[in-house]
Amino acid sequence: MDNKHIEETYQLLIELIQNKCINPPGDEMKSIRTIEKFLKSKRVSCKIFESAKNRANLVAVIPGTNKEDSGLIFGPSHVDVVPVTKPDDWKENPFGGVIKDGYIWGRGTLDMLFIVASQVQAFVLLSQEKFKPKGDLVLFIVADEETGGVWGADWMIKNHSNELSINNRKMFAVTEAGGVQISKDKFVIINGEKGATSLKLKFQGTPGHGSAPYSSDNAVHKVSKAALYLTDYCDNKIPIDTTFIRNLVKGLGMNFILRSLITNKKLLPIILKILNKKDPEMPKVLHSLSRMTISPNIIQGGKKINIIASEASLEIDVRTLPGQDYDYVVFHVKKALKELADEVIIKRVEAEEGIASTGTASPVESDFVTAMKNAIRKDFPNASLVPLIASGATDGRFLREKNVDTYGFALFNPETPMNEIVSLAHGVDERISLKTVELSLNVYYNLAKEFL
Ligand SMILES: [Zn+2]
Repeated sequence: MDNKHIEETYQLLIELIQNKCINPPGDEMKSIRTIEKFLKSKRVSCKIFESAKNRANLVAVIPGTNKEDSGLIFGPSHVDVVPVTKPDDWKENPFGGVIKDGYIWGRGTLDMLFIVASQVQAFVLLSQEKFKPKGDLVLFIVADEETGGVWGADWMIKNHSNELSINNRKMFAVTEAGGVQISKDKFVIINGEKGATSLKLKFQGTPGHGSAPYSSDNAVHKVSKAALYLTDYCDNKIPIDTTFIRNLVKGLGMNFILRSLITNKKLLPIILKILNKKDPEMPKVLHSLSRMTISPNIIQGGKKINIIASEASLEIDVRTLPGQDYDYVVFHVKKALKELADEVIIKRVEAEEGIASTGTASPVESDFVTAMKNAIRKDFPNASLVPLIASGATDGRFLREKNVDTYGFALFNPETPMNEIVSLAHGVDERISLKTVELSLNVYYNLAKEFL
């Protein structure tokens, strides 16, 4: 890739950082206009869709030459960013867009403005060279990912799905998360995500004097028991599904013996305990990939220190695998609660980030995945892909629900450690290496050429 084009991508990214589209409130119109201006300066036309005051989404299309062929969406890629809670802890101004030590610094660089900038530029370069794709190539930039997509991807798919070509041909999409090397030449591709359900479990008791507690009907006893029952059930009794672990260990090229141990449903709980003594990170991932998880996180109860509690509640964060619905959640929560199941009152609550979602997954093998591998091999000739389900939600789920196979991928500088990405996204000193921006620009450009 030409230096001039890489440099332009950096500049676009810097402008997006400086636009400060902090969500809430978002005000993404600013960055949407920046992208529109950039596209216009390259004689590329686009459409803007205003979803709310100062909030908008952008679509540009290079039409395919054949009606039957599959198309590709760059996106949904979001221009909103999360707030900066501790600006004084940053080494650089979080909204300055400073280039230093081989990185561009700023809120949103990693999540996910560098992808926005490199996808916009890849789209521009393809348009300028009069690329004729077989299926449509769609650039899809959105608002509002960080608070649930209501005015962004979700809104666009509900109101303007025709603009995205998803109703008339098979489409594939490439969006955020994924692309880090998990070991040499093995790149993570996110092929799905877990769902999230937040529940409040309420228990009643009988009030009485705190000085005479013998055999009392105490609601605090019940929530305490419930918390322990749920954790034990989640770790030791809930049905285990090894599909997603299987994809991971296969991609990692783990040896046959280790692979069969880890993917054995009966042995997994023991393996997790053994691994946990060495390093808790891996078992955490395997645990969450292998089941619906339940984490009891808020407990409340009682009113006065000398009165036996007549009410108590427990809020739990439930994360489901693709295919597990709300009925599945309630069934297993009740089963976990044993004798308490008859008296519990279960209510759905709004999740903290406003995200309640179902899990979704796209196939780990397809022509698209092969094209992706070939695109990466232009820069890393021995590259292979390791499919992984993300534990958090992204806009990708809205497209998967519409039968668009959606993957999270950007091409990270091989020197980027996995934990750097986890700690910098939404964190202090968020930054992206210049090399990663360049490699990602390459990979999106090459992917379109390989696939379309
Ligand atoms: Zn994001």
